[in-house]
Amino acid sequence: MSLVINFDDIPDDEEYVFDLQEKPDYFKVDPEEGVLRKDVHVQGSLSKVGREVLLKGSVSTEMEMICSRCLEPLKYQIRSRVSSRYVPGQEAGSQDTDIELHTSDIEVEYYSDGRIDLTQAVYDQMMLSLPLARLCREDCLGICSQCGVNRNKKNCQCSDKDSIDPRLAVLKTLKDKLK
Ligand SMILES: [Zn+2]
Ligand SMILES: [Zn+2]
Repeated sequence: MSLVINFDDIPDDEEYVFDLQEKPDYFKVDPEEGVLRKDVHVQGSLSKVGREVLLKGSVSTEMEMICSRCLEPLKYQIRSRVSSRYVPGQEAGSQDTDIELHTSDIEVEYYSDGRIDLTQAVYDQMMLSLPLARLCREDCLGICSQCGVNRNKKNCQCSDKDSIDPRLAVLKTLKDKLK
């Protein structure tokens, strides 16, 4: 299996609808980003515009990553739209200016040998859709800086002064600095 569709399979005058699934290990995800835990489901349509092909679709899967506050694993549902424009690679040089003119926010990829490979567009979109703040829950209490317990699971006996919300702690530090 692969996320490749042949140009010749796409009809000239209508959309080619697809529904594909890939195993998590098909994608090389940096373990620091996380680990894919479910098949990557890609569905959508391809349509021809001359020698170009437009992709409109969606990608969904599940990624496991580490909460940046308490370091426990968390599951993140990836559900994202993916769109891209495929232009023939061998004509790329001569079409350069043309491409610049009508490219705005849509990704342009090159294809060769009549093979429309969705892998890169799908991968890029999965990575883009990851949250900046990786929290197991919005009010994750994190790890106690004094005794190291996961404060979501256990209350510790460290003094109130030392166990204030880490976000407040940042503010407090700032205040102290400004004194
Ligand atoms: Zn957490
Ligand atoms: Zn503690």
